[in-house]
Amino acid sequence: MEMKRVLSVASECVPLVKTGGLADVVGALPAALAAQGWQMRVLIPAYRPLRAQIADWPEVFAEEDLFGGRGAVKAGDVAGVPMLLLDAPHLYDREGGPYNSGGVDWPDNPQRFAALSWIAARIAREGLADGWRPQVLHAHDWQAGYAPTYLAFGGPRDVATVMTIHNIAFQGWADAPMLGTLRLPAHEFHPASLEYYGGLSSLKAGLVTADKITTVSPSYAAELMRPEFGMGLEGVIAARAADVQGILNGVDEGVWSPEAEAVPYTSRRMKGKAANRAALCEEFGLDVPGPLAIVVSRMTDQKGIDLLPQVLPDFIAGGGGLAILGSGDPALESAMLDLVRRYPGRVALRLGYDEALSHRMFAGGDAVLVPSRFEPCGLTQLYGLRYGTVPVVAAVGGLADTVIHANPAALAADVATGITFHPTDAPAFAQALRQLLALHAQPAVWARLVRHAMAQPVGWEGSAAAYAQLYDGILR
Ligand code: ADP
Repeated sequence: MEMKRVLSVASECVPLVKTGGLADVVGALPAALAAQGWQMRVLIPAYRPLRAQIADWPEVFAEEDLFGGRGAVKAGDVAGVPMLLLDAPHLYDREGGPYNSGGVDWPDNPQRFAALSWIAARIAREGLADGWRPQVLHAHDWQAGYAPTYLAFGGPRDVATVMTIHNIAFQGWADAPMLGTLRLPAHEFHPASLEYYGGLSSLKAGLVTADKITTVSPSYAAELMRPEFGMGLEGVIAARAADVQGILNGVDEGVWSPEAEAVPYTSRRMKGKAANRAALCEEFGLDVPGPLAIVVSRMTDQKGIDLLPQVLPDFIAGGGGLAILGSGDPALESAMLDLVRRYPGRVALRLGYDEALSHRMFAGGDAVLVPSRFEPCGLTQLYGLRYGTVPVVAAVGGLADTVIHANPAALAADVATGITFHPTDAPAFAQALRQLLALHAQPAVWARLVRHAMAQPVGWEGSAAAYAQLYDGILR
């Protein structure tokens, strides 16, 4: 069968470069979509650490003056994914991260990522030297926002476009006088098009020019049209409501599998989970008679970690315990340290980023706490489902879409997979933890809850089918 073709444009992609969940999604989609008849090529910048790796790759596209220097697109396979790397040393060959150095954003970020978008739009129109040309251009977040824009403003086109929002907080701001530098048409600088609060936003540009808009969960898609979540773009997104869709992220079920942990287990043979729990308690120096909860999270206001000091005393008194892994805001880190001091043997903390430890925590924990204030999709609740580590989550965004609350009806119908609470505040969170204690104290009920959580599909198949259907619907 002839494969249909999509060009995915982003600033990160695993395993080459990652600062957040965006890279996981961009890296996972090509394999998932191949099963749906779509060949996806991924275009990212050739940052300094990637340049040695692509030295021998063939050049398949070039522009002599790409925002102040030569830009060459090189093609190669990485872990089975057909990659396109934009090598433009004047933009990307720098010491530091993709977006900043020493915590300070590169001042020419607007040009750096406009260049990526510009090349993507040209590839969509002209095709690569090897004859490949996409039918769909899929742009991810602000870094790729101008890709649909350049294509839309460049005359009649036969390539359809999709703009995906992974994180609305970053909007690709530039001052209005940058318009010409960014190769944008002056007559488009008005509120219905490129103008954004007196300046420019590459994300807004993508949102007004792409054929379709997606974000990473249905609930978040609806939330983004409200001021509390839209961060200034709510009006833009609401105006395009008919073209907005939420498609959940998946997780790699090979990597996140209880059968691949230190003591393997399945929903039918749960003995291994008890062994993993004992090992985790030993590793953390915990002795917990009731449910052992875990938190694996960036420590920021978004994640609601600041509520823990208010809700933990009752949970601990009820027999619960907590193992925390994370880092971030120093005030939150020290609040967690206080909890450890207050409840030795019941609360433990590891500061830092440690993926191997996070696996051991999901394998050994009884429940995972995710009290986020907003959550576009969220991954840790999906790991929790897969590992039978019951998710206790705030009912926002992707958390609301993936966890079925254990109310009496859902329990009776045998469909509950976790505990949800709303709003994200201490009283609601405390109530959820009381329910966690109560459910855990009923072994038969708890076992059914765990079994149902583990039966929930959390892989990429469903999401890939949704993206494929979206692409098919907009083919020109
Ligand atoms: P966000 O992208 O907002 O941080 P997600 O839940 O979508 O939230 O994704 C977070 C990812 O980062 C998950 O895979 C989670 O397990 C991982 N993670 C977060 N903090 C840590 C940490 N300290 N150590 C290991 N993994 C972490």
